[in-house]
Amino acid sequence: MVNRQSIVIVGASLAGIRCAEALRLNGFAGSIALIGAEPHAPYDRPPLSKQILRHERVPAEIALLGAADLSRLDLRMCLGTEATALDLNRQIVTTTSGEFGFDALVIATGAVPRRLQMRHPADGVFYLRTLDDAIALGARIVPEAKVVVIGGGFIGGEVASSARARGARVTMLEASAGPLAPILGSDIAGVCSELYRRHGIDLRCSVMATGFLGEAEVSGVVLSDGQTVDADVVAVGVGAKPATDWLGSSGLSLADGVVCDSICQAVGTDSVYAAGDVARWEHPAFGSIRIEHWTNAVEQASAVADSILAPEQAQPYAPLPYFWSDQFDTKIQFAGVKSPAARFELVDGSIESGAFAGVYRVGNQVTGCVGFNRPRIVTSFRRQMLESFRDAAPAA
Ligand code: FAD
Repeated sequence: MVNRQSIVIVGASLAGIRCAEALRLNGFAGSIALIGAEPHAPYDRPPLSKQILRHERVPAEIALLGAADLSRLDLRMCLGTEATALDLNRQIVTTTSGEFGFDALVIATGAVPRRLQMRHPADGVFYLRTLDDAIALGARIVPEAKVVVIGGGFIGGEVASSARARGARVTMLEASAGPLAPILGSDIAGVCSELYRRHGIDLRCSVMATGFLGEAEVSGVVLSDGQTVDADVVAVGVGAKPATDWLGSSGLSLADGVVCDSICQAVGTDSVYAAGDVARWEHPAFGSIRIEHWTNAVEQASAVADSILAPEQAQPYAPLPYFWSDQFDTKIQFAGVKSPAARFELVDGSIESGAFAGVYRVGNQVTGCVGFNRPRIVTSFRRQMLESFRDAAPAA
């Protein structure tokens, strides 16, 4: 174990917490400072667009740590504290509550929603990333409210689904040919379109939002085809970008994320690491990659702890990308990667029934697997794909 006494983790959320846990589990007895911009105790984000929006869970039920975990981990927890700069030479993080020196730094600042580049009314347009966002949006999604969801990705689909569960009238706008089309292809976009329409969503595809109506309060959305849609509430889900603004003057290599090597160490440093949505690293099988999913944040946090404590033994971090999304009565799961050249092939169930699994093939090789209410099949393909690409990956 290298002699590191003081570790600073910036970002008190999933990746940050899981990294602190892994460090302690692996025997690190020095100090760990966990710095988080949000005022809340660390919480889990997936329920925000699901149970929290539907008022089925309260914030206390989505905490990432209990009181016993906190005392066991013995963290210096600094919430409501924003990191504003990093001085690599002095090994100091500057924050809104003072300076923190470190022997090793973990950057786990996640991502922030992409904002639409147009005038926003003072009220009624929401982006969803934090607990405060979910509480504010959830308060506005009431029965019969006219909710416009901009973006047919995962967040958009989940918000639309939760809004329908609350009895709202929902219109969804998607710029591509169908929901999830850019991520999972046209076959799955067709299935999602059918799912949404069956649940009463007014789905409009191949159309962009070009403006908002209303000054103080949003009253509608202007579309690229010249039409307008009435709105009491607008929820925007058009992607996220890594939260790296605070690192602008640090000298770290930033390119859609903190650029790291295969063991998640920031390139050009020997004491800075990144994990979770903010990290871009060199995957042995897929090359430079950044993943914005829950499972990666957990697995990468653990890999970073290994890299910090025993760099000479650290293995390249080589996960198989995986995510799930809960929409209406459907659990959507995807494991692997889907290249534009991949072709979809149904392997179980039927598209019409809404319960099926399919694989993506490039040549004869399965590169990805998608399931709609087919968890066992996805788990099985996930295991097979993980084994096959780990066998194929070059050694460290
Ligand atoms: P985050 O969870 O974003 O945490 C980063 C933390 O760093 C934040 O608390 C932020 O405030 C803090 N921070 C940022 N900048 C600073 C700074 N300068 N100083 C101090 N603190 C800072 N994934 C799935 O696989 N399935 C799902 O169903 C799913 N649902 C989701 C639903 C929603 C609404 C959202 C937003 C995400 C969802 N995800 C889902 C994605 C998953 O939640 C993320 O991949 C995961 O939260 C990433 O964890 P992270 O710790 O890297 O980043």
